Amino acid sequence: MTHVFHRVLTRELPVAARAEGVWIIDADGKRYLDGAGGAIVVNVGHGDPALIEAARRHLSHLDYVHGTMFTTEALEAYADEVAPRLPMDDPRIYPVSGGSEAVETALKLARSYHLARGEASRTIVIGRRASYHGNTLGALDASGKEPLRKPYEPWLGRFRHAPAAYEYRCQNPGHPGGCGAWHAGELEQAIQDAGPANVAAFIGEPVAGATLGAAVPSDDYWPAIAGVCRRHGVLLIADEVMSGFGRTGRWFGIDHWGVRPDLLTAGKGSSSGYVPFGFAACSSEIFETVKEAGGFVHGFTWSHNGLGAAVARAVLRRLEGGLLERSRELGERVLKDLSTALADCAVAGDVRGLGLMIGVELVRDRETKAPFDRKEQVTERVVADAREHGLLLYSSTGHADGVNGDLLMLGPPFVLSDDEAATLVELTAEAVRSVA
Ligand code: PMP
Repeated sequence: MTHVFHRVLTRELPVAARAEGVWIIDADGKRYLDGAGGAIVVNVGHGDPALIEAARRHLSHLDYVHGTMFTTEALEAYADEVAPRLPMDDPRIYPVSGGSEAVETALKLARSYHLARGEASRTIVIGRRASYHGNTLGALDASGKEPLRKPYEPWLGRFRHAPAAYEYRCQNPGHPGGCGAWHAGELEQAIQDAGPANVAAFIGEPVAGATLGAAVPSDDYWPAIAGVCRRHGVLLIADEVMSGFGRTGRWFGIDHWGVRPDLLTAGKGSSSGYVPFGFAACSSEIFETVKEAGGFVHGFTWSHNGLGAAVARAVLRRLEGGLLERSRELGERVLKDLSTALADCAVAGDVRGLGLMIGVELVRDRETKAPFDRKEQVTERVVADAREHGLLLYSSTGHADGVNGDLLMLGPPFVLSDDEAATLVELTAEAVRSVA
């Protein structure tokens, strides 16, 4: 008997007792290789002394102060250090407690910017099908993750959706030629349908994570999308909650294509999961426009939190100290080794990713790419097999047609050693083979 309303209600959860490096140890002493850093969160690694010390040092002299009454040295120092890393012009950051709040903040900032410019009709946000931006109602409406939207559909529907950048099941009739141009045409059409004067922003994950399992777009995708947004005065929001802070082997996912968004959202890896943290960043142009018009009507009790900023600053140092590079080089190796290990496995439809953001798509038929029937619970069985053998994987279902579709994600902490990487590949391949 417990009084906790757990995330999982179908089985009893083990009690996590401690964690170090890439390992989580439960109360019974069982060790789990954290192959997905929780939900692609723990970028640096567990039990990192520098991060723990940063939190301790901050709390030893300051706990809570409200964002409307004070700023803090921790927050100012963090903003100064992260700003040059962001792919934006002289950015400002608005710190929050996590990804969904970061997305809500970015959406409201986009709206506030257009209001400040006298373009009150710009209310519509265009997201993408099979995307994930969070579980609060605004972020969920921008998302295209059908199983999560379904129960709340009566509360959704203000936003629109363009096609996913999903190369494995690309909708472009001429694929792989000109996918970027085709997507640009689709976005152009969505903007025309909504009325160009009514569209506030386009939001997308630079590398699609929670719904599409590390689906990497074609190289011409983001430049083409950015071009359409600019032409129509539509703000481009890069949702880097999962792909940010080194996860794809660069500071931010969008850096792979040299595109500079107007707004950017961060969460998860920004604090490596040590404390709830995230932010929405905007260009100075957006900041100045909103400021001139009287400010930003928004805020949370936990926004602008100094503790989060202190830890996030320590994360920057660790990434700069070699871990960013490690994510890139180890990512390439794990992707290659996992692809080889699953090359003859009938259910491994696609192995993909960038840096240490890696996905495996499971299919009933490799030729036709037909998904398994959801009743077969294939992802769940693979994840259970992995867990039994001491490996934790992240999963997602329902992407193929809104109901069916089985995905696994790997996203280990960057401190993973070469030996641990080999174990990760081996246990993942064995778990996948267990359902073949
Ligand atoms: N955006 C993206 C791209 C995400 O991957 C997630 C979480 N999976 C979110 C937003 C929501 O973040 P949170 O769960 O911290 O609210």
